[in-house]
Amino acid sequence: MVLNGKGAAAGIAVGSILIYNDKIQIPCESFVPAGGEQAQLDKYNLIKKEALEELESIRLSIQKLDPAKAGIFIAHKEIVEDIVINEEITAKILKDRWVADWAVYSVYDTFISVLRQTPDPMISERAVDFEDVRDLLLRLLYGQKKIKLSSLNEPVIIAAGDFKPSDAASMDKEKVLAILSEHGGLTSHTAIIAKSYGIPAVFGIEGLLKTIKQGQSVIVDAGEGIVILDPPSDAKKKYEEKYSAFCRDREDAEKYRTAPGCTSCGVKIDIGLNIANTDDKELSASGYTDSVGVFRTEFIYMGRAALPAEDEQFSIYKKVLECFKERPVILRTMDIGGDKKLSCMELPDEENPFLGNRALRFCFKNPDIFKTHIRACLRASVFGHLWLMLPMVTSLEDIRKAKEHIACARSELEKEGKSFKEIKLGIMIEIPSVAIIADLVCAEVDFASIGSNDLIQYVCAADRMNVEVEPYYQSYHPAMFRLFKKTIDAFNDAGKPVSFCGELGSDPKAVPALIGLGMRKLSMNAACVPAVKRTIASLTIKKAEEIAANVLRLPTAMEIEKYLQGAL
Ligand code: PEP
Ligand code: MG
Repeated sequence: MVLNGKGAAAGIAVGSILIYNDKIQIPCESFVPAGGEQAQLDKYNLIKKEALEELESIRLSIQKLDPAKAGIFIAHKEIVEDIVINEEITAKILKDRWVADWAVYSVYDTFISVLRQTPDPMISERAVDFEDVRDLLLRLLYGQKKIKLSSLNEPVIIAAGDFKPSDAASMDKEKVLAILSEHGGLTSHTAIIAKSYGIPAVFGIEGLLKTIKQGQSVIVDAGEGIVILDPPSDAKKKYEEKYSAFCRDREDAEKYRTAPGCTSCGVKIDIGLNIANTDDKELSASGYTDSVGVFRTEFIYMGRAALPAEDEQFSIYKKVLECFKERPVILRTMDIGGDKKLSCMELPDEENPFLGNRALRFCFKNPDIFKTHIRACLRASVFGHLWLMLPMVTSLEDIRKAKEHIACARSELEKEGKSFKEIKLGIMIEIPSVAIIADLVCAEVDFASIGSNDLIQYVCAADRMNVEVEPYYQSYHPAMFRLFKKTIDAFNDAGKPVSFCGELGSDPKAVPALIGLGMRKLSMNAACVPAVKRTIASLTIKKAEEIAANVLRLPTAMEIEKYLQGAL
């Protein structure tokens, strides 16, 4: 049997399935027949004991490494033992004859709603802890095993309903052979992470979890967007050959990894690095890249129990700056929101999170969090060449408002006698409104970087997370190339640096056209560097300009993509 989806990160993998489904089943209102009450109560008391044991064992395992986080599990144990909650659940089971899971769900839900409505944020934020405990109790009641993605025992192919960026960031990258998911867009952050680790991914597989079985053997061909279940031996043989060809091409590109990134006519194209963390593996790419084109700092905030303190952030940013020495490091201020949720802070549900309080808007709404962030960035500036970049900028007012926040953080640091250097301030061009006024914007900032991942979704009105509308998310839409040109021309004319850090900048098909439009700095995941440098090496500026001119003349995305496919 073959399942179809969309290839989100190219590659081929053969292995067995690990179903990852962290969604808790929501119970229905149901009752036990008279006489069954005590059995339900016993069941509840038993899982309560199991929950306390599980929480204690997590607490012990992290106590030394992260005492603050360990404290959370003490708080969770207290919730499990909370007298009022337990009296309520017991009464619902014994008096009203509710089944245990329904009693747990409803009683916790009442508490969670009350907490959420409390105006004091110190109290309302505790709702997240109650939710965690409720989910733990329900998971235990349903016998759902919690999978620790960070410590997998053997190589697996993950199959999920929705695999979130925080899941991808925490997974054991060495053991994940491929990622399959029912949801998720091709430029979602999960896809970007998979690509950065060279892990094949296929998203948008309808009915995946209903069809697939735990441990089932599969072949994943992400280039084609297909998954073959229980492959017969001839299919295995075919894919072994295909995999060898894939590896040969990767090895060929690999020769260019440390090349200087010059066209065959000798023009240097700066190769920046897109990073989301600062582990040694990620930073080892500093050996063959010219800068950090975007450090997605929001990942520091994700998957943790408390917001990162100023000193912790400072050490992280300092590490990258020291690693890149005289080369620029673009720290993008946190881009929280959209598909990037926080576990340490509940964000209000929004109808359209990608059009909501994301990134800079979140920062303006949470000035204290923003200030801590900027202070840490500024303090780190003395250790290298820091360029600070604002995401989700809509207008000049946004830039001016951000400047006020930065000025405020600077004057605080000055008063405290803490040192910092002059930094460059730039913006992401990822919202059409600023791309259209690029000529006005470039007077306000020192540099810009085009974020095609968002720019495409906003220009084409196609949610980058929703694989259903993927045909409308047209990376090669003529409107995109016209907007890129407008932005590149404005910044080049003003003599200010402009780069490209969206996924399209690492697409070997699009690279010649972008260079032909005047782009001289492309930033990408380390895994994409060899193939992009190979493309650049095969190109002259004259040829690139000819390609760009032809692209600007073509009327549809399909025609542009087809043309670019054979342009070199
Ligand atoms: C982009 O939008 O192109 C970008 C680089 O930012 P992100 O993918 O993190 O939204
Ligand atoms: Mg973006």
